[in-house]
Amino acid sequence: MTVTVRFAPSPTGLIHIGNARTAIINWLYAKKAGGRFILRFDDTDAARSKTEYAEAIIKDLDWLGLVHDELHYQSRRFDAYDAAAEKLKKDGRLYACYETPDELERRRRRQLATGKPPVYDRAGLQLSDAEKKALEAEGRTPHWRFKLNDRVVESIDLIRGPQSINMSSLSDPVLIRGDGTYLYTLPSVVDDIDMGITDIIRGEDHVVNTSVQIELFEALGSTPPRFAHHSLLTGADGKGLSKRLGSLSIGGLRDNGLEAMAVVSHAALIGSSVPIQPYQDIHDLVEIFDISKLSRAPARFDPHELESLNAKLLHEMDYARVRDRLAKLDIEGEEFWLAVRGNLESFSDVKKWHQVTSGEIKPVIADEDREFIDAARKALPDTEWDKTTWKNWTSELKTTTGRKGRQLFMPLRLALTGEDHGPELAGLLPLIGREKAIQRLS
Ligand code: GLU
Repeated sequence: MTVTVRFAPSPTGLIHIGNARTAIINWLYAKKAGGRFILRFDDTDAARSKTEYAEAIIKDLDWLGLVHDELHYQSRRFDAYDAAAEKLKKDGRLYACYETPDELERRRRRQLATGKPPVYDRAGLQLSDAEKKALEAEGRTPHWRFKLNDRVVESIDLIRGPQSINMSSLSDPVLIRGDGTYLYTLPSVVDDIDMGITDIIRGEDHVVNTSVQIELFEALGSTPPRFAHHSLLTGADGKGLSKRLGSLSIGGLRDNGLEAMAVVSHAALIGSSVPIQPYQDIHDLVEIFDISKLSRAPARFDPHELESLNAKLLHEMDYARVRDRLAKLDIEGEEFWLAVRGNLESFSDVKKWHQVTSGEIKPVIADEDREFIDAARKALPDTEWDKTTWKNWTSELKTTTGRKGRQLFMPLRLALTGEDHGPELAGLLPLIGREKAIQRLS
């Protein structure tokens, strides 16, 4: 069977690095197996789901390079959920309950007070038709609970290993609310069955759902898929990342100039036993990705680590990967790219260095360096300029002026670039060219 996974966000907010990590792990896992990646919006909650959020999530995943093979919206699949609910009712697995939240809470407190586990007592199952009619006549509408089997559900988690949950420790979960709307549990399973999902990979906040959903797969006549639950990312404070954290949203990272592949590399490898390195191409990451290397421990996300990974990615990036992006800024030339890439923290820094090689800058010349800079200008080589020019020129200046080290190089850098730091001048000087060099040294 073709490996088929799904990423199922609710479009009730933007996705952040933690949510994207789930998508990335799913995508890499599927592609490693030559399989398919389905994007499915959990948008049954009409009040909170927004088209803008769905669109933003599609844009974010596109940017990350996580191309989807299919796209679905749960809000368009209610017929399938209704059919499944009918089947469960007919089989006696979905039963009507009439308690108000208050009544449930009181019952729960009584159970706790008498030392009993606070599990729903299945009172709804005992109601006769006449009693249900009477309750409905009071104006109550039923919510519907799924009757769990009295058993231990066992599964093998691809990350967490063997799992077992005693179902009698859980309350029968509500699948349909009193107003007739579905909670997440049933639509998710119906879709997983209909869409041929072979592997459900999601955060460990869903571990308990999984045991319930395994029972649902079986009640609907299907074999449960494989499961994997990855640990969740925490912020520097050790707390979970909140969904609306602006700067950690994928859009926020993009707007801050991070490279998609830095985000993907970081998210794929954080919290695993594989060292985090920048991968230029998502397909190279597919090669080395191994879900079993993910650790069960929560992974701490540090934006500074992502920033330095981003810089490292740029420092190693080939010209072919950026040619088009440079062209959009009216910049071209492999020499330029190779000269400056090692100094970029974000791609947009190229604008500054392009200004230095091809635009106008304000040379900085301290009074005490005037004489030295004059000598330097006069000593500029007459030969064709290349990468060796800088070395030849400064070696000669060293002999003629007696300056060395910082005293020799810093005044030249300040005069030629207007900055006290930056890419190696051996690469920059030929790009600046004789005419500009003479001007800046004057
Ligand atoms: N909408 C759910 C979430 O974002 C999906 C969980 C799942 O993958 O089943 O947590």
